[in-house]
Amino acid sequence: MNERGTLYLLKPGELALKGGNRESFMKALIRNLAVMLRGTGASITRTDGRLYVNCPAETETACENALSRLAGITGWAKARKSEKSIEAVMSAAVDEARGAYEAKARSFKVEARRTDKSFPLNSHEICCMAGDRIVSAFPSFAVDVHSPEVTINIEIRERAYIYGREHKGLRGLPVGVSGRGMLLLSGGIDSPVAGYLAALRGMRIFAVYFHAYPYTPDEARQKVVRLAEIIGGYAMGVNLSVVSFTKVEQLIKDAAPPEWSTVLLRMAMMDCASTLAAKKRCKCLITGESLGQVASQTIENISCAESRSRLPVLRPLITFDKESIIKYAVKIGTYKTSILPYSDCCAIFSPPHPIIHAPLNEAAALYGSIGLDALINEALSEIPKFNPQSLNGETKD
Ligand code: ATP
Ligand code: MG
Repeated sequence: MNERGTLYLLKPGELALKGGNRESFMKALIRNLAVMLRGTGASITRTDGRLYVNCPAETETACENALSRLAGITGWAKARKSEKSIEAVMSAAVDEARGAYEAKARSFKVEARRTDKSFPLNSHEICCMAGDRIVSAFPSFAVDVHSPEVTINIEIRERAYIYGREHKGLRGLPVGVSGRGMLLLSGGIDSPVAGYLAALRGMRIFAVYFHAYPYTPDEARQKVVRLAEIIGGYAMGVNLSVVSFTKVEQLIKDAAPPEWSTVLLRMAMMDCASTLAAKKRCKCLITGESLGQVASQTIENISCAESRSRLPVLRPLITFDKESIIKYAVKIGTYKTSILPYSDCCAIFSPPHPIIHAPLNEAAALYGSIGLDALINEALSEIPKFNPQSLNGETKD
């Protein structure tokens, strides 16, 4: 297709809006891309507003897989590079159209963009000429400027680039530009999606899972490991800490009225996660809470949990309904794992009649009276070193 291998053109996303930060965002994007493309033999080129990836034909699938998981680009496409002569550009446009026509597209339009103003045709003239050439070559390929099945794009930059089908990028910001966040990752549907969304806003994800073995089986832990791996595929790796919370849960169960156990457990999780987050230099906590979804997620109960956090708590899903969360989970590939039937600790310890609107002062008094600090510290000191997927070597500590 090109001189050698396959060429992809990438459109960096919100970077253009970032003024003085643009350069560091662009660098983060390129660094992440380079990590994702490791082992493919691909090379990355940067010109003004674009990135290009050149890869050997045999690693196309791996490259496309990486591009579809890269935060910070609005779109990408397989492209042809041509010389900047009218003839070369027109012939590449016809070649591109041939591919689309053979793939059964029946209507098209041409879009042209010219950053090199020395090219002898302006954008409108490029579109008209390419449109004419394509129709002459494939008379039943109809021009439809409003809703074409395919758009043939022509960009005249330092070289000419011609591409048809553009794939949507994940958008968002390159992972890492917003610092580190600690995700409270359960085996459920919500928190993996919350982690994914935070990663797309540039957070590097550190995750913590509170495990209550033997009340929750090891399969529940393995499920969380798998979920961390899946989100790691978008988030440049996720560093997962598994904290044994059995004693904490046991104490809550033994020492507090049963209807309080869920709220108190959430408070203990926030407490513990805050300390761990500080150790890992995370700037916030991230949860999968969604307002009103379950008893523990009324605004009062969320406030009780939050009162034990020493960091801002991000809740990317707070206004999402379950259906939209599930859509995301299916899209990012966590859903099937999330619905595996291993109950998490909360399901096992949840009382039949949990308190729905817990008063903060009562929660604080009760929490203080149980004396969980020692057990939380013990749990933190026993965290096994575990790192399911660290793609870039930055998430090890
Ligand atoms: P999820 O689908 O993420 O499990 P959920 O709808 O089941 O969420 P809750 O069980 O109330 O909601 O949990 C609320 C949030 O608390 C979760 O989204 C997650 O961020 C955190 N959380 C709950 N259980 C655990 C756990 N065992 N380990 C780590 N975080 C947890
Ligand atoms: Mg849950």
